Amino acid sequence: MPLNDSAHLIPTTDELLFLPLGGAGEIGMNLALYGHDGAWFMVDMGLTFGGDAFPEHRVMMADPAFIAARRERLVGILLTHGHEDHVGALPYLWRRLRCPILATPFTAAFVRQKLAGAGIEEDPVRPIALGERFQLGPFGVEYIGMTHSIPESNGILITTPVGAVFHSGDWKLDDRPVVGRRYDPDRLHALSRAPLLAMVCDSTNAVVPGSTGSEGDLFAPLLELASQASGRILVTSFASNIARLVTLARVAEAVGRRFGLVGQAMARMVAIARGCGYWPGDLPELVDPRHLGLLPPQEVFAACTGSQGEPGSALARIAEDRHRDLSLDPGDAVFFSSKMIPGNEASVMRVQQRLKDLGAEIVTDTDAPIHVSGHPAIRPRRICAVSTAGCSRRP
Ligand SMILES: [Zn+2]
Repeated sequence: MPLNDSAHLIPTTDELLFLPLGGAGEIGMNLALYGHDGAWFMVDMGLTFGGDAFPEHRVMMADPAFIAARRERLVGILLTHGHEDHVGALPYLWRRLRCPILATPFTAAFVRQKLAGAGIEEDPVRPIALGERFQLGPFGVEYIGMTHSIPESNGILITTPVGAVFHSGDWKLDDRPVVGRRYDPDRLHALSRAPLLAMVCDSTNAVVPGSTGSEGDLFAPLLELASQASGRILVTSFASNIARLVTLARVAEAVGRRFGLVGQAMARMVAIARGCGYWPGDLPELVDPRHLGLLPPQEVFAACTGSQGEPGSALARIAEDRHRDLSLDPGDAVFFSSKMIPGNEASVMRVQQRLKDLGAEIVTDTDAPIHVSGHPAIRPRRICAVSTAGCSRRP
């Protein structure tokens, strides 16, 4: 049927429709629609990266033509959290929809920055409170706090007269998330007894048995490694994992080193975290990256972007010995506090080889327990779990 024929596919009052335009059965570019009583709303608008599989495409995203053709029925975009595979397409596609974007404060601040960076002068972002309940057109909406590898990951309970659906977003159950609130076990227990139509479980490994370590587990092994290092310490991780960066800052403090961030994405994320109250006030001031290279090697502890071997990232440039602020010497250490995302193996290995060629010692999560996933590994129980996409950028 023609996409612009709005007589078709108008959700009726006796149905709750789930229509994933992206992210179902694939990694990244999450974009889901829910329809009821003449209206649609969207959950997330993410992208994915071409990586080694599609090197000709830097980014890829879902085709929003269906909803763009009936955007007058789109009451809003709800964001679960700020990872690129959930919000990264907004700067590219929002102009085709021009609807309100609702998000909790950390995600809202990040998305506002992205939209402004794309030259979008309007401010469609409507910040909502953690745990807020509200009505959006014919939909009842409740944000339910989860834990993940970025502050403020949320599940969304969608309620209509014909039934309710829980859209989980990316999550794991972390009792010691280091920053931010932990997940809400009481609310999740109550939800387990609710008569849900379905759980749309949008998280990598959601149907894998097992358990995932806590962010709170990482201080001790990172401290042990850092204590053994004699040269510079460089740790690469995901820029949005504020908890990991706080842990690294605390390890640096514990071993008497100066801590700084190398890479613009990381600096931007920490600035947003400060603004939202997620960067502890008792940590020492960050060292300006321009000064890191001037310090004695045994005083340097730097976190940097580029854990996936991204060309042009801080770590890639350091590995090529062409970074403006920092260069490595034999005996310096580089810790990969991250997972090698499938598809990025060649890029990561290339950077690691270059670092080895410079004489650096490489430690990855296979050598020492210096990374935990932001995703679950549990066995689903009674309710229907529809496993859609995972979070490709920030496992
Ligand atoms: Zn995520």
